[in-house]
Amino acid sequence: MKKSFSILITGIVQGVGFRPFVFKLAQGLGLAGWVLNSPAGVECVVEGEAADCAAFLERLPLEAPGVSRIESINYTEQGIQGAAFFKILPSKAGLRHTLISPDLALCDDCLAELFDPQDRRYRYPFINCTNCGPRFTIIENLPYDRPMTTMKHFNMCEACRREYEDPANRRFHAQPNACPACGPALNYVDAAGQKIAGEPLDLAYSALQAGQIVAIKGLGGYHLACDAQNEAAVNTLRGRKARWHKPFALMLPDLAQVRLYCEISREEEELLQSPAQPVLLLKRRTGAPPLPAALAPDSDRLGIMLPYTPLHYLLTENWSALVMTSANFSDEPIAYNDEDAQSRLKGLADAFLTHNRPIFRRADDSVAVWAAAAPRLLRRSRGYAPQPLSLEGCRRQILAVGGQEKNTFCLTRGSQAILSQHIGELSDVATYAEFQQEIAYYCAMFKIEPELIVSDLHPDYLSSRYAKLSGLPQLKVQHHHAHFASVLAEHHLSQPALGFIFDGSGYGEDGHLWGGEVLYGTCADYKRLAHLRYLPLPGGEAAIREPWRQALSALYMAGGEKLATDERWLWPNGWELVLSALQQKVNTPLASGLGRLFDALAALSGLYPQVSYEGQAAIALENILDDNAAGSYRFAINEYQEKPLELDWRPLILSAAQDKLSGVNPGAIAVRFHRALSSLCLHLAQRFREQYHADTIALSGGCWQNIWLLTQIQQNLTKAGFKVYSNSAVPTNDGGLSYGQAAVACRGDY
Ligand code: ZN
Ligand code: ZN
Ligand code: FE
Repeated sequence: MKKSFSILITGIVQGVGFRPFVFKLAQGLGLAGWVLNSPAGVECVVEGEAADCAAFLERLPLEAPGVSRIESINYTEQGIQGAAFFKILPSKAGLRHTLISPDLALCDDCLAELFDPQDRRYRYPFINCTNCGPRFTIIENLPYDRPMTTMKHFNMCEACRREYEDPANRRFHAQPNACPACGPALNYVDAAGQKIAGEPLDLAYSALQAGQIVAIKGLGGYHLACDAQNEAAVNTLRGRKARWHKPFALMLPDLAQVRLYCEISREEEELLQSPAQPVLLLKRRTGAPPLPAALAPDSDRLGIMLPYTPLHYLLTENWSALVMTSANFSDEPIAYNDEDAQSRLKGLADAFLTHNRPIFRRADDSVAVWAAAAPRLLRRSRGYAPQPLSLEGCRRQILAVGGQEKNTFCLTRGSQAILSQHIGELSDVATYAEFQQEIAYYCAMFKIEPELIVSDLHPDYLSSRYAKLSGLPQLKVQHHHAHFASVLAEHHLSQPALGFIFDGSGYGEDGHLWGGEVLYGTCADYKRLAHLRYLPLPGGEAAIREPWRQALSALYMAGGEKLATDERWLWPNGWELVLSALQQKVNTPLASGLGRLFDALAALSGLYPQVSYEGQAAIALENILDDNAAGSYRFAINEYQEKPLELDWRPLILSAAQDKLSGVNPGAIAVRFHRALSSLCLHLAQRFREQYHADTIALSGGCWQNIWLLTQIQQNLTKAGFKVYSNSAVPTNDGGLSYGQAAVACRGDY
């Protein structure tokens, strides 16, 4: 019996080889009909024997290209249309290609061609197909067709054109399709900008071998590369970048090499090899071959990625590990356009391995970690943006502009939230310009005209100022409510929940700096149930760069002048001024951030009186933590009429100080502090469960990047019968703030 079905597939199904896939599947089953791209997704009709139609419908979701993301398949049976063949029809007009694929790592088919001496693309560094290659970083505008990409500068040769036009070919409408005869080519340029004659890859290899630092143009920007085994080269790179402590990412040639250096689970292997190929933070393996200490000081994890472009495969084949760190000075954005790279990377790179396929937009490497039974994106950028996230029930077009550091912005359309790639630190002039420009591009590409702009409550964030100047109706969302909402929205939680929001600092409703908060509520509204006791920050921002000031403050508040001035603390010069500022309450803003308490504890334990990036002391504290040491500190809980509970760290600081002064090792101090936090959470959860009948808990904020805390607390609370949710697809740090802001704005009827 013959049947006919009309089918609509939605999701990321365009620009990912979906039509050729449908074509081959239908043809293989002997079905007739057609397939096309429409504004809604992919539409197709299949006609043939009932059993074959059924097989088609069954295999469609199972065998779809790995890089596609099907959101729904709807089909209806209809009368026989009388089709004789299966055809790919021209796209339907309308809002075409309104979902844009992120950049995709090299696929297995292309990889095989890359190393096949018989293939016409043998060792061609720009090999790609509809299943892989550059996407978002080369797209200037929509529709996604070659003239709208940076590939417009290259004319396809006969052979490439034939592939491009053949529906059965893997390169059917692969916009970046190219070959050595017609496509982009490599270049090797010295530090002075002079092109050097010779085979660029060989030249780069020799330079790396000689311990030099080579800037390498990748998918979303330049990397600075050096031989990861060469200690002198790694130290030179640190010195030139003026980046003293942040770990450098490594690129290893293959999984075997990763297993040599790191412990890796099945889930971690899958994440590392997924089409997005993030940098994955992996635990070092004991007994691994030694690596220079300067690669990742104070960290028991290494940031690892695999080659994700053909160029990377060619580059890494002779190395066991290359440093591949973003090409920038400290907080500046990474270099991505060629003219700019030459001048910006002066003094950083000894040479450039570059090419003539322009990068239209910067996309940093994404960073992920597998923790507490789920993947956690710590930076969501290349390979993920601009893939939409769901934001159920959102009916309006909203622009949420995020925070100040680790900035991202977020646009909503229907029930989709389109979270931008990592923009970065807005106080940098170039980054702020990019922030503004990318908002304009996104609005144009996705055809979004925001009716409402959402910002942080902090008046001095550049994103808040941008919102104010936009002229749109503005909603200000408290920083930690946004963090809270980011988890609620990610997990589609609409009932009131408890939120443990542990963070660095964010502007509070009372004008103080919040960040150790227990909230109760929904995306629409919240109540502050408890917070860490305020800690004065002598010198404000300076205290964050110099955690010893926070330690001095905490000791003074907990034990008075006598304890704070004990000479065994070995305070740096100028401590008397800090003390008198505390006594006179001059320039000592109040902060309840857990990040601040981490800083104080770390400095008190003798780690990092000064830091080169925020969070460094906290990371060091987590890393020295000694699980074998016994004991725990404790918080006191103070109750005041009509006010949130105060979580008082003074007894904890007193015990830690006593431990330190009596020679207890910092690893024990660290674990006692972590345990105190863990029991505090359990205690509060139980207390508020009775009061509010809430058994759902959301965890968010930068402190949850601490894997020990996340794992232990999630486990303890789950054991006690709570349903615990934390961020996974959206960063728990300020990179997820804009998504949370959007969630607040679309849930509360503003
Ligand atoms: Zn491919
Ligand atoms: Zn060609
Ligand atoms: Fe935050």
